[in-house]
Amino acid sequence: MASLSVGIVGLPNVGKSTLFQALTKKPVNIANYPFCTIDPNVGVVQVPDERVQKLADLFKSKKVIPAVVEFVDIAGLVKGASKGEGLGNQFLSHIRETDAICQVVRCFEDPDIIHVEQSVDPVRDIDTVNTELLLKDLETVEKRLGTMEKEVKGGDKEAIINYPILQEFKITLERGVSAFLYQKEHPEAKAVFKELQLLSAKPVIYLCNTDKKEISEVLKKKIGELHSSFVILSAREELDIVSLSEQEVLELGLNSRLPALIQKAYEILNLITFFTTGLDETRAWTIEKGMTAPQAGGVIHSDFEKTFIRAEVIPWNVLLEVGGYTQAYEKGQVRTEGKEYVVQDGDVIEIKHG
Ligand code: GDP
Repeated sequence: MASLSVGIVGLPNVGKSTLFQALTKKPVNIANYPFCTIDPNVGVVQVPDERVQKLADLFKSKKVIPAVVEFVDIAGLVKGASKGEGLGNQFLSHIRETDAICQVVRCFEDPDIIHVEQSVDPVRDIDTVNTELLLKDLETVEKRLGTMEKEVKGGDKEAIINYPILQEFKITLERGVSAFLYQKEHPEAKAVFKELQLLSAKPVIYLCNTDKKEISEVLKKKIGELHSSFVILSAREELDIVSLSEQEVLELGLNSRLPALIQKAYEILNLITFFTTGLDETRAWTIEKGMTAPQAGGVIHSDFEKTFIRAEVIPWNVLLEVGGYTQAYEKGQVRTEGKEYVVQDGDVIEIKHG
């Protein structure tokens, strides 16, 4: 996965822009990430990971390139978005392009900041947003069933298999079940959903925007029922934190929760990090859990997957403990792995290729 993108969604005035500003305040050298999108609504955010810097220090690397996540600031959604209300369609097509959704939920009370529904009720707001996604998906599914019906009549083998799968899902969708939940029980539906890029198939992190440390039990229960994760943070406080110096943050005893948000994005998308390191650069790479060494090589350079010979692998902490490659080789700590090797989080890898 060259670039991971998370869409920030939610009703108006819940703190989406504030969060986006906090996330993107620290500039990233975009030249290091040619695959990233250049767009004012897309922020490239470094993945906080002390391992990259530690490796870079050991190797006195000239360049340090952390992994990044793209956050997309998507215009506020309103009731009826699926029917084109507000910036409805634009909003929904932006979500389609993301890997995961960060749904900002207003939990903070503030009489000066208008709520579109005139009251603070996070559970209701989650339902409002999710209903719009479901309605849009329903439209997509109905459209596809229409074309599939013709394919079935024409004897298309794939359509004959997929048509009943999609029809079955439509009934569940109408009852308010997301594609994300449905595919947990019905793995056969995954491939069909992928082709349709369903909005409700994307994993969601609920970002509970509040300066309190806890959220209500009803809200927790709601998020639990959706099989999703949440992060509690105050977008306004996060924006304050990034505007202060490190010293001031320490003195005030503030603690950013943005790393926890990015961490959650990795978790829900089943992502891990491996490293390449040397004098020229130390770099963190993002891959899906379960990828083999040649596939990981393909993330570094598309040719490496085909021309892969072997990988020299050592866990990052072992490399740091022994103090460098010479010592690691002497102690037999660098393993030689072949095509079948499944890369582990924290591996430092050198790909040998033809
Ligand atoms: P958006 O419409 O979702 O993008 O919302 P904004 O980020 O523009 O925020 C709307 C208003 O809520 C702004 O005045 C923010 O300063 C304020 N706001 C954001 N986060 C918090 C928070 O945690 N607490 C309070 N009290 N206000 C916040």
